[in-house]
Amino acid sequence: MEHFDVAVVGARAGGAAAAMLLARQGLRVLLVDRDRYGADTLSTHALMRGGVLLLSRWGLLDRIVAAGTPPVRQTRFHYDTETAIVSIKPRLGVEALYAPRRSLLDAVLVDAARAAGAEVRFGVTVTGLLRDDSGRVAGVLGRDREGASVTVRARLTVGADGRRSTVARAAGARTLRTGTGAGAVVYGYWTGLETSGYEWFYRPGHTAGMIPTNDGQVCVFAGMPAAVFAAGAGGDGVGGRVNGKANGGRMSSGRAGGGLHGRYHRMLADATNGAGGRLAAAEPPRRLRTWVGRPGFIREAQGPGWALVGDAGSFVDPLSSHGITDALRDAEWLALAVASAGEPGSVPGAFAAGRDRVMGPIHDAADRIAAYDWDMPRVRRHLMELNSAMSAEVESIGATGAG
Ligand SMILES: Cc1cc2nc3c(=O)[nH]c(=O)nc-3n(C[C@H](O)[C@H](O)[C@H](O)COP(=O)(O)OP(=O)(O)OC[C@H]3O[C@@H](n4cnc5c(N)ncnc54)[C@H](O)[C@@H]3O)c2cc1C
Repeated sequence: MEHFDVAVVGARAGGAAAAMLLARQGLRVLLVDRDRYGADTLSTHALMRGGVLLLSRWGLLDRIVAAGTPPVRQTRFHYDTETAIVSIKPRLGVEALYAPRRSLLDAVLVDAARAAGAEVRFGVTVTGLLRDDSGRVAGVLGRDREGASVTVRARLTVGADGRRSTVARAAGARTLRTGTGAGAVVYGYWTGLETSGYEWFYRPGHTAGMIPTNDGQVCVFAGMPAAVFAAGAGGDGVGGRVNGKANGGRMSSGRAGGGLHGRYHRMLADATNGAGGRLAAAEPPRRLRTWVGRPGFIREAQGPGWALVGDAGSFVDPLSSHGITDALRDAEWLALAVASAGEPGSVPGAFAAGRDRVMGPIHDAADRIAAYDWDMPRVRRHLMELNSAMSAEVESIGATGAG
């Protein structure tokens, strides 16, 4: 039996950041993940201002920039035939936004957690939680790649293990809010595509986005209501199954020439109207990834001996481009709460209260956008709601710091 102050399950945006910040406080932290270091994951990766602000505050933005991640200084919102251009104004030390590949961002965070003194173990799958005599969560149970059992006692267990969190389930975290909207997304990486920054496209029943990223590539997604996608509308029979396998929302790929590619290009044409010929002039992806869509939710963020950060605690539809920023924010606010208590075993309720206050409006706005139940004036209004919820969050992040 090993003993740590904190056991963190999941070593990506939420978990690696939480482990880093808690280790920087001098706590003995174990960070585990069943995946491997530097692995990609099913996610596009546009960061919003709050996320960039935190990476900068933690001293990690330089590594993202040094890796060649292009700055984003402008967002274009294409509403059918109209375009609105929003410049990213320098504020709170954020001069530009960035969209680093997850293989880069998550690795930078894991490296920083290690450098801060956290012990990091990949290939460890957590299967359950330890409890003490009072029923309080007291650590994790799991197994490593060789099948050997792992038992770790910890004063605080942090679930950063994503949407289908084992920690949340084993801790009995209640679901506080469930959305109804769900969008499906197909995305891939284009070469030689001209973009002026982030670009979001909205047409009735269709969305798309362009996200400039590392290696001169642009991540381009096409979206539609999950139910329409699953029904296979578009006529190629791909539906909710990709490459012949049921797709439960995990990473799946389709190779060039397959039905998924035809469907992706039709979805893009429907959403962008060809983007002024720019797509035709660029090199399309050979590999595509599919997210079949799931409604958002908010779960209880903490209980005796446990806390949840990132998607484990709250999941918002990818159309919000906000999940990574949420995960980084949760890590920061959890670390602040632990620091204020001076004891990892008793996280003040202020952590959950703060998370709920900012997540409620973000969840609601994202849910309305993901419902695809809008015309152009209405989607503009929903995006304004999302923007004001994000601004309130940035103000809160700007006001405090766990660095
Ligand atoms: C299609 C799509 C596009 C998206 N686009 C964006 C975007 O542009 N911008 C944005 O901000 N967000 C986006 N998101 C959301 C973003 O991907 C998530 O919000 C973010 O990954 C959450 O980070 P996390 O650290 O909480 O969890 P995750 O990234 O889900 O990481 C969880 C980790 O936990 C590990 N794990 C799970 N279970 C166990 C276990 N039992 N034992 C050990 N380890 C375990 C997993 O291996 C994984 O590494 C998108 C999501 C999707 C699906």
